[in-house]
Amino acid sequence: MTKRKIHITDVILRDAHQSLIATRLRTEDMLPACEWLDQAGYWSLECWGGATFDACVRFLKEDPWERLRTLREALPNTRLQMLLRGQNLLGYRHYGDDVVGAFVAKAAENGMDVFRIFDALNDVRNLETSIKAVKKAGKHAQGTICYTVSPVHNTDAYLEQAKAMADMGADSIAIKDMAGLLTPGVTAELVGKLKDTLDLPVFLHSHATSGMAPMCQWAAMEAGVDHIDTALSAFAGGTSHPPTESLVAALHDAGFDTGLNLELLDKATRYFREVRKKYHQFESEYNGVDTSVLLSQVPGGMMSNLANQLKEQGALDRIQNVFEEIPRVRKDLGYPPLVTPTSQIVGTQAVINVLAGKRYESITNEVKKYLQGWYGKAPAAVDQELQRRAVGKEDLIEERPANLIPHELDELRKQVGDLATAEEDVLTYAMFPDQARAYLEQRRDGTLEPEPLEPIPAKGTGGPVDTKFKITVHGESYDIHVTGANPVSDGERRFYMTVDGVPEEIHLASLSDGNEGGGKSGGRASATKEGHVTTSMPGNIVDVLVKEGDQVEAGDPVLIIEAMKMETEVKATISGSVKGVFIAKGDRVVPGEVLVDIE
Ligand code: MN
Repeated sequence: MTKRKIHITDVILRDAHQSLIATRLRTEDMLPACEWLDQAGYWSLECWGGATFDACVRFLKEDPWERLRTLREALPNTRLQMLLRGQNLLGYRHYGDDVVGAFVAKAAENGMDVFRIFDALNDVRNLETSIKAVKKAGKHAQGTICYTVSPVHNTDAYLEQAKAMADMGADSIAIKDMAGLLTPGVTAELVGKLKDTLDLPVFLHSHATSGMAPMCQWAAMEAGVDHIDTALSAFAGGTSHPPTESLVAALHDAGFDTGLNLELLDKATRYFREVRKKYHQFESEYNGVDTSVLLSQVPGGMMSNLANQLKEQGALDRIQNVFEEIPRVRKDLGYPPLVTPTSQIVGTQAVINVLAGKRYESITNEVKKYLQGWYGKAPAAVDQELQRRAVGKEDLIEERPANLIPHELDELRKQVGDLATAEEDVLTYAMFPDQARAYLEQRRDGTLEPEPLEPIPAKGTGGPVDTKFKITVHGESYDIHVTGANPVSDGERRFYMTVDGVPEEIHLASLSDGNEGGGKSGGRASATKEGHVTTSMPGNIVDVLVKEGDQVEAGDPVLIIEAMKMETEVKATISGSVKGVFIAKGDRVVPGEVLVDIE
């Protein structure tokens, strides 16, 4: 019996650690396994994407382009694959067509072979420019269907999308199931229709979150799928992907063959199992099967990010409320699939709605832009009243959003100036301006330093440290629940906890090295009356829009805060005159503080 070849893409170097350890795997910890990975027989290795690029610059202080070149050299026999957000590239906004062209060309030049290109709204107009650029570079352009479940999504609609991408020149079609929502039945139907209609290879990328992915993989193979994504078992399961080795073994007595060498996979996976321990502080709590995703539809990467973000807000206990709010926000926005950047847009707005205790009291700038049409066409009609409120008197956008974005590379080059020593640096700056600037300055000054890794806990010391306890001070008792902590920086450490159920941020600063106690944020009075403008989330002040003496109307934006990678306008709580402004651009603020006083 001739066996049909099933090609495997391993996501160990990108999606797997993104889903399980907040994208923190360092290049130095990838390299020792590369020889095994390169010889195992993979069709491709996914190794680059928005979150890996971001984490490199923001936390690891690595040059993401250098990572790509290093992996290219370490993996000479295997295709390298990346995930590209269409006109968003790896950032959180739409770029001018010239930036898209330059980014794809540089990625190809530095060693990328396969570009999996998607748009969060499945609006194919947002894929046009990048597919064209990949073809121009002579590389593999993969058109992607972001799979989601909603009253307006069905297999015929996905088939139409796939045809449109084929017409644009896509070399293959990927089904991207971010949240593990695919069922075996739908998988068989969708793969069958794609294979019957198009003469292109079909890839399946299905997350293990809900526990259905291995069944979907099997159904897909029976329906004619050509490629399947898996993760080495050391980083498989949970919100990551089904294990590579299990699939290889499962096919032994069946009509399919992966061609992968199980012994080499075993070596690599044993290595990664040890390496994973180094990153214990970033472990997602969602590393088992979680069937609540079937209702919340929250994809893997988003789940661990949300958990981390809520931890930082000292509000991890609200995660269930956030999961309940997400489907409601999603409906209001016309059922976008939940994938970057819509997952952040929907997720952050849901967090704000929950923490503020009132829905859409503040609306993030991204939700406003989304409702205006800057991200493309929503799959279904959006909530008209919300749209009117968010967009105000400005025009709605009907055409391909990038048509309205002028070429911007020259301007970006000017902005970053001498800090860029190569065109790649300009593109890094284009993706994440603030983080890239900090990175490039530190590189210039020779002060690059990755965020610290906490030591691996010794075995046999009694398991995890207690995070819940009672303290008694001056005769008063408090229930403390520590929900998160930042590493020490500038002699100061920040803890997030609830005290009798109320979220608090606590700063510990050492007095012995000259620091006076207290933190850099805080020190402001607590909000006690209606005219006290405060925030529902800790964050940084991006802009202050009022000054003392200004007259404001209730609902007027008075400041812009950045929290969880999103900018949000904070609005005047009442109409009146501004009596005091207690913040400046760049300040760190926490909930409950008076930021602006209106009377
Ligand atoms: Mn994924």
